[in-house]
Parts: sequence; C-alpha cells; structure tokens
Amino acid sequence: MGLGTVAIPEVTKFFAEGDPHEIIRFALENFSPRIAISFSGAEDVVLVDMAVKTGGEFSVFSLDTGRLHPETYQFIDKVREHYGIPIEVYSPQAAAVENLVKAKGLYSFYKDGHKECCGIRKVEPLRRALRSLDAWITGQRHDQSPSTRTQVAIVETDPVFSSPDHELIKFNPLAKWTSQQVWAYIRENNVPFNPLHERGYVSIGCEPCTRPVLPGQHEREGRWWWEDQTKKECGLHVGNLER
Ligand code: SF4
Repeated sequence: MGLGTVAIPEVTKFFAEGDPHEIIRFALENFSPRIAISFSGAEDVVLVDMAVKTGGEFSVFSLDTGRLHPETYQFIDKVREHYGIPIEVYSPQAAAVENLVKAKGLYSFYKDGHKECCGIRKVEPLRRALRSLDAWITGQRHDQSPSTRTQVAIVETDPVFSSPDHELIKFNPLAKWTSQQVWAYIRENNVPFNPLHERGYVSIGCEPCTRPVLPGQHEREGRWWWEDQTKKECGLHVGNLER
C-alpha cells in the first residue's frame, strides 16, 4: 500500500491543524500492515495508545542500544503488557559494538562525539527495523528542539531511510502538539510512562547520554550536554539537521 494518487503536500495541507488521532487513522488505513511505531519516549506511548484505539494493524519496535536505564527496559515490558501487544526489540550488531569498545572504550562519545556510537547502536538497528516497512510513525514534536525540530512535517518522505527503489513515508502526528498536550493526554488516558520522568528526566535516551534538566531548562539540554547545541540528533532523525 501507499499514498497512491494522494500527494504528500496535499496530505500535509489536509492535516495542517490535524488531530493526531485522524493522522494515525489515515496512516494505518493507507499503510497497514507495513507500518510501525518507533517506541522509546513518553510521546511514543501516546502514539501506541491512539493506534490501539483505532483497531488498525501496526507493529511497534524499540531500539535496545545496550545502554538504556534499567527503568526504560522495565518500561518497555510494561507497555507490552498494558496493551497486550508485541514490541520488537532490535539490538546492535555484537561485532560492531565489540570493535568500537575494543578500539575506544565504553565512553568514547564523551571524547569524540556521539555520532559513531549512535551509528552502531541506533542507526544500523533502525535501518534493519525499517527495511520491511513502507511507513513509520514517530513522536517528533516541534517544541522538542528549538534547533532541529521546529520544521518537522506531519507527513514526509523519509529523507534518510528512503532509497531510490523504496520510498519510506514518515508520519509525525504529534508534530504540532506541545509537551503539555502530551502529558495531559497521558494523565487523561492512564497511559503508562517511564518512572524517570518523575525524577526530572524529560527527554530520555541512553543512560550515559541523558541527565535530568532543571526547571526552565529546555528538555534537549539533558541530552549530549557536552556537545554543540545545534547537533542534537542521533541519526534516527538526522534529516532534521539538514532542513
Ligand atoms: S545515546 Fe550515547 S550511548 Fe546511546 S548510542 Fe548514542 S552515543 Fe551511544
């Protein structure tokens, strides 16, 4: 399946002020079953909650970098049990991780940046997860990052993971939602959330690369805080850096 004769600009225009429920319904109607939700953060469970309620067919995957917080591993299973759905967990290639650690140690990202480690632990597994899909749904929002996510489209051809012979569509149904809207939805719908959010963590990634933020700090300041503020994408959404 696909968007068929419907062009992406038309879809984007139609959903300009789109209700995320309607965008998800549209995505599933056009791409099931070759569509998946990428699950890691608070907003991703909102997507899962909305998608389950449509009754449509979709899959959910998560990337286990091997460096997540114990709370995040427990949270993945909590979501699996809460919704009674499988979550496919993709791990990095063991040999690639072993080679990196052998050459540079376990914390090379503090010295030469996160790109190499994220490439091995996130991007390569993501590429495998996306290989059999025609579309994926992410929780990207404009207010997550003033430097990289303000232009995120509601629907787009994935600029990174499409290939000349395989167009991959990327839906970002929450692009225009604020963090407050996400958390209001979580409370109103009893959506499970990572307990780290109760300890000052807002944007949660790998344990060594995530820290709580203080009141007034932007959520992205808790990620890769030792690096340039304008380069805070891990490769999953690296197309945002080129907009
Ligand atoms: S977030 Fe940090 S630990 Fe996780 S893959 Fe990227 S650099 Fe490695």
